[in-house]
Amino acid sequence: MVKVLNGQKAVFKANGAEWNKGRIYHILMDRRYIGEKSYPQIIATDTFQKANGLKDSKRVDKRPIIAEAEFLKGKVFCGKCGSRYIRIIDTDKKERWVCSDGCRLGRRPTDEKLLTMIQTMIAKVNEKPELLLQHTLEAGYTRTLEIMRLTNEIARMNEQVAPSFNTGKTLLYQIAANKFSACKEDKSVYTDYVANEIHNTVERGGVDVQFLRNAIYKIFVTGKNEYEVVFINGARISNKEVADGASKTCNKDRSESVAD
Ligand SMILES: [Zn+2]
Repeated sequence: MVKVLNGQKAVFKANGAEWNKGRIYHILMDRRYIGEKSYPQIIATDTFQKANGLKDSKRVDKRPIIAEAEFLKGKVFCGKCGSRYIRIIDTDKKERWVCSDGCRLGRRPTDEKLLTMIQTMIAKVNEKPELLLQHTLEAGYTRTLEIMRLTNEIARMNEQVAPSFNTGKTLLYQIAANKFSACKEDKSVYTDYVANEIHNTVERGGVDVQFLRNAIYKIFVTGKNEYEVVFINGARISNKEVADGASKTCNKDRSESVAD
């Protein structure tokens, strides 16, 4: 239809603007063209209604259950009371997430809202992977002498002009193993893994089920447009913090805090 109108050199506007999909859509949806609000009728009422009916039926078809949103079930929690967030069909026919205990924390997020939030956050974290070190320290482990020795060794290696990759790798694995046995709850050893997952997901072009499964532990709704994402390494990052650029990144380098 756009081609036909432009081919006929039909005038859309005196300034020579061409026809496009959006302009035709606008006319077909604007009730003024069927003579409402004292405008002259340009489009036959039944044509108008057919176009509207078509649009509405298309919109219904366009609402498949998004796999990603399905996957979020059980991962979204209320930041106020800790209850699980559930997905309901709201009065506007959109899927929205609500606290199962009834808390109201601003507007109920849609699937799209949640996924866009995650997408925005991982784009930031991809630029600044050090954000993943946030809030993971408290989770900590009892620092054993062996961990201290290995950490020191890595620090010395880093000062070398040409450190050996393989030796470094072996040391890192040893540290990881030691941290694990020192404290089963320390998830910080997953930080590199999460950083890598985020990087790959951003490269792939967006949040998908694979990413949600592999890297995200929980999501908290903490306020109006405020969320906290907990990654599987224990890093808990707020979307507000990331957006403000005022993130309280942990300055204390983990590998340097050997002396304490
Ligand atoms: Zn709640």
